[in-house]
Amino acid sequence: MRAFELYDATTVAQAVDLLKQNSSRATKVVGGGSDLIGGILKDWVHGAGLPFPDVIVDLTTIKDLSTISVDGGGATIGATATLTDVIEHKDIASKFPLLTAAALTVASPLIRNFGTLGGNVNQRPRCWYFRGEDFNCYKKGGDFCYAVTGDNRYHAIIGGELCYIVHPSDTSTALLALNASAKIAGVNGDRTVAFDKYFIGPREDVLRENVLGKGEFMTHVTIPNPAGGTKMAWNKLKDRQVYDFALTSVAVAFTMDGNNWKDGRIVLGGVAPVPYRATVIEDALKGKDIKSNIKQAAAQIRTVARPMSLNAYKVDLAAGLIERTVMDALATN
Ligand SMILES: Cc1cc2nc3c(=O)[nH]c(=O)nc-3n(C[C@H](O)[C@H](O)[C@H](O)COP(=O)(O)OP(=O)(O)OC[C@H]3O[C@@H](n4cnc5c(N)ncnc54)[C@H](O)[C@@H]3O)c2cc1C
Ligand code: SF4
Repeated sequence: MRAFELYDATTVAQAVDLLKQNSSRATKVVGGGSDLIGGILKDWVHGAGLPFPDVIVDLTTIKDLSTISVDGGGATIGATATLTDVIEHKDIASKFPLLTAAALTVASPLIRNFGTLGGNVNQRPRCWYFRGEDFNCYKKGGDFCYAVTGDNRYHAIIGGELCYIVHPSDTSTALLALNASAKIAGVNGDRTVAFDKYFIGPREDVLRENVLGKGEFMTHVTIPNPAGGTKMAWNKLKDRQVYDFALTSVAVAFTMDGNNWKDGRIVLGGVAPVPYRATVIEDALKGKDIKSNIKQAAAQIRTVARPMSLNAYKVDLAAGLIERTVMDALATN
């Protein structure tokens, strides 16, 4: 690992200043460091499009960024709140059990104790070529995607063009289903971006997975209060029953009119370069009796899936898991 300068910011303004002062150099912010320090700062996970950082700004030293509040308007979660902080927050658990359930399936208790929400949402992809020593792929600034001709069993079945990563973050999948937004600070000012628009695919920019530009970072996640009677559920399928990333995960949050689907979201993880909102299934359920239509609606995922040579199994997993998750949500009070 190469040397870098580390700065402990104590306020958001100071973090922005540090990023501004170092704008001609490669900069990064860090939360718990479980991905950035432990995973990405390997000598080989860099390239023309992914420079090794000269300067790292620690956000966990900013006190205000670790708080969680829930009130009449919804929830505001600081980007450096740890995943354990999120899981153990009673109001989050009672109002947004979907987020609690998703956060509980992230990694191991040890990683959840220091991994932050901001780090989880903004972590880099796990594609083994991207993280591998011998592969200068598109995402590092190279000129090839090794997953196309190589082992692509864990790669995208939807929306992969140029690069076929799957978005690795479990909390992002749940937060998109909850219609969350990201508050962003940066050298060009503050802005708020709905999660609907936060994640970007490889066609838009193969070097990034979200809209954050140079000198920008996430300060908070906000979640609006769900409508009364909203049903929620989370399921995640993994290869191993110890900690592992999702082969496929499903987050649902919806309201009902009698037994019928009124409004809501179905979001999939592990299948696309971004957390994938399955509007094709939401549309197939709209206004219909959920129990008698869910199997047929879930099968609609086959109409948008374009599996690679080794991952068609994920299409079956997704169809089954969508059905199971919607039925789990129906069974909640
Ligand atoms: C063994 C292992 C298993 C894992 N399993 C899972 C899993 O099952 N599901 C899952 O979702 N994740 C999983 N992860 C990923 C893990 O959840 C993340 O490493 C962790 O949540 C990231 O948090 P962090 O604070 O340590 O991130 P960091 O390493 O500090 O940061 C990660 C990235 O996000 C950027 N970043 C951090 N904070 C911000 C911010 N506020 N604004 C903008 N960018 C920011 C950093 O620059 C960096 O690029 C696993 C990781 C490991 C090591
Ligand atoms: S899927 Fe993306 S990250 Fe993986 S090898 Fe292809 S270009 Fe690189």
